[in-house]
Amino acid sequence: MTRVINFSPGPSILPESVLKQAAAEMLDYRGTGMSVMEMSHRSETFLEIIEGAEVSIRQLLSVPANFKVLFLQGGASTQFAMVPLNLFRKKRKAGYLHTGAWSHKAIAEAKRYGTVQVLASSEEDRFTRIPDLGNLRFDPGMDYVHFTSNNTIFGTSYRDFPHTGSIPLVADMSSDILSKEIEVPRFGLIYAGAQKNAGPAGLTLVIIREDLIGHALPETPTMLDYQTAAKARSLYNTPPCYAIYIAGLVFRWLLDQGGLSAMEALNRHKAALLYDFLDGSTLFKATVAEPFRSIMNIPFLLPDNTMNTQFLAQAEAAGFVNLKGHRSVGGMRASIYNAMPAEAVQALVNFMKTFEKNI
Ligand SMILES: *Cc1c(COP(=O)(O)O)cnc(C)c1O
Repeated sequence: MTRVINFSPGPSILPESVLKQAAAEMLDYRGTGMSVMEMSHRSETFLEIIEGAEVSIRQLLSVPANFKVLFLQGGASTQFAMVPLNLFRKKRKAGYLHTGAWSHKAIAEAKRYGTVQVLASSEEDRFTRIPDLGNLRFDPGMDYVHFTSNNTIFGTSYRDFPHTGSIPLVADMSSDILSKEIEVPRFGLIYAGAQKNAGPAGLTLVIIREDLIGHALPETPTMLDYQTAAKARSLYNTPPCYAIYIAGLVFRWLLDQGGLSAMEALNRHKAALLYDFLDGSTLFKATVAEPFRSIMNIPFLLPDNTMNTQFLAQAEAAGFVNLKGHRSVGGMRASIYNAMPAEAVQALVNFMKTFEKNI
């Protein structure tokens, strides 16, 4: 068996020890004689799995008692609709920060239900930066302010989060949740598709302040009302059982690594390995300037497309896969989520050094 070094933006790399444990428990989960995929979501055993996952993520993020953790389906893209459906009040007004393709989709969806004010945008700079938030004024009539904490495609991220006072702050953290410590109490709602940094596809994580639950617009489908999942502890209908089980193993793995402060230090170290090389290279170039750089997704370019193609082919042959950049940026993108070891990033840097020398 050969495992490649997988830089996929999502679904993406998972800790090898988690995959091994899942393999070992595949046919007989801890003496039950069945796979987690085969058991009732109402069984004692599964209740322990979902409750254990919640305990772990609460511990990792220090989630306060007045926040619910929900295990949902439909991906981050369904949250683009659930957020306005649940958070819009009478005037149906929200502010959005526009920093790329995902915020564009979130804005488009919210516009179906109410008024969206785009408070700041980096579109003019082709999303290579985060807009300046210093002068932003937040109209207290807004029901919430939404932003994308890490822009997976463009490789930008916020150094600090917007200060919205009493207006609930909503974050799409799909590609950087659990990559560093955050202060959950600063937010009204955090959501993330699990498949980038937290587990397999099919599970969507939502962390929501309790007082924001229970006011959904009247036309909201039952399954899209946070109250439905909150009241039933994410067991209103059949949840994505196996994805929750794997995510629970990932959360435990993170705790075993020393939690999110240790993870953040490691992630910063990994990103620095690559950025330092890119900044010193005469051939490769990072597409994002220093203050806006993501530590999860790192896009970079060679001088022309022929060279990009050549590099990608040689990298793949050497076992570095899924490095192709998003079509809107081109070139390469290395996604180096939590589960990517520092040695693997160093191996990529070494490979790039050799490529540069031989060209
Ligand atoms: C991948 C991604 C999404 C879309 O997630 P789905 O779970 O596929 O709907 C949304 N936002 C961000 C920031 C992402 O990286």
